[in-house]
Amino acid sequence: MAVATDTFTEKTDEQKAITEMVRQFADNEIIPVAEEYDHEDKFPEPIVEQMKELGLFGVTIPEEYGGMGLDLTTYAMIVEELSRGWISISGVVNTHFIGSYLLMKFGTEEQKNTFLPKMATGEIRAAFSLSEPEVGSDVQGIKSTAKQADDGQWEINGQKMWVTNGLRSGLVFVLVKTDTKADPPYKGMTCFICEKEPGADKVPGLTIPPKIKKMGYKGVESTELVFDGFKVPEDRILGGPEGLGEGFVQMMDALEVGRVNVAARGVGVAQRSMELALRYSQERKTFGKPIAQHQAITFKLAEMGTRLEAARLLTMKAARMKDAGERSDLEAGMAKLFASEAAKENAEDALRIHGGYGYSKEYEIERIYRDAPLLLIGEGTSEIQKMVIGKKLLQRNRA
Ligand SMILES: Cc1cc2nc3c(=O)[nH]c(=O)nc-3n(C[C@H](O)[C@H](O)[C@H](O)COP(=O)(O)OP(=O)(O)OC[C@H]3O[C@@H](n4cnc5c(N)ncnc54)[C@H](O)[C@@H]3O)c2cc1C
Repeated sequence: MAVATDTFTEKTDEQKAITEMVRQFADNEIIPVAEEYDHEDKFPEPIVEQMKELGLFGVTIPEEYGGMGLDLTTYAMIVEELSRGWISISGVVNTHFIGSYLLMKFGTEEQKNTFLPKMATGEIRAAFSLSEPEVGSDVQGIKSTAKQADDGQWEINGQKMWVTNGLRSGLVFVLVKTDTKADPPYKGMTCFICEKEPGADKVPGLTIPPKIKKMGYKGVESTELVFDGFKVPEDRILGGPEGLGEGFVQMMDALEVGRVNVAARGVGVAQRSMELALRYSQERKTFGKPIAQHQAITFKLAEMGTRLEAARLLTMKAARMKDAGERSDLEAGMAKLFASEAAKENAEDALRIHGGYGYSKEYEIERIYRDAPLLLIGEGTSEIQKMVIGKKLLQRNRA
């Protein structure tokens, strides 16, 4: 039998305080207006302004650069709450978080000092760009290139696809090939820090076509970036001269924490779906009793709740391992796979529980059902997660 030790706590007092603050923010400022922004596919500017005031763009940025200096675990808790409110709100923060991670881990002192303080306040927001029209999962197959001109500057050419926050961001971390003949290809890939005017759809060397129309995940824009001789100064290779040829490794590292981030978004979606299902199933009556009392529905609720808890535990474990400085690639992959599938399944179960009303735009679950599938795709599809998980399991358990 287990020996009793300390009382079980999921969160420290600081984590409780901050997640409670973000939950109230979601309840008061996000949930009441999310449908309106979603239906109009409108960027939630006033909400983003409030997030700046709350310091939510600097959660993981060290205090010396003006951020809160919190760990990945606390960040994941915050993302869960934002995503519970509306996945698009966490989307505004998500790419920014990956950009700040790239700078904190790989940036030169000059790059950190230049960008992190403005990123901590949200004055500039970041996006990241790997995907292209013909390439998503197979990142080493990208075709965009950068060549160094005689004046030392680099010129980027090529087309990027699906860049979340592509228009409104002031910084984009762009992965391109600087050596197209490198073997293996990843050794010839470099990440450039591209500065641009937020909101401008045309700047010299870069055109941003109108945002891509999506089934869900509305409000926050996803765009193409068409580079045609876009100039980047020599000192804007991520990590300086030593960063040349390191872009793939840098981006894959960032995607590992990105997976914990997506997992946390999945937990938020699964949580909100559960809340809506619990409420509706106790209000709606059929055959003389609330539908929650029909065993088929009770069982559905039981499955949803169990899935939610498992998703949260996997996510917290991956985040805590990363914070402890341990390898967490396997755990981050498992968390991302399970939590994104849990989000999609809980959204579908909640929609079923709502019957016909789940299909109505008057009900929140209709939006969540359209939003959830994004999580199966971004930061590596479920199939890619399974490839990562399987490979890591075999590596860690060699026969
Ligand atoms: C709304 C949205 C926002 C996004 N934001 C960003 C962003 O900010 N920055 C960015 O760089 N990208 C972004 N992406 C792109 C996203 O990362 C890619 O869509 C994703 O990596 C999948 O790539 P793909 O769409 O090209 O699909 P493909 O790679 O063409 O895959 C198609 C299908 O084949 C499967 N598949 C592929 N290879 C294998 C394999 N070896 N074995 C088994 N199955 C396989 C996939 O799982 C998928 O089911 C975004 C995408 C969306 C939809």
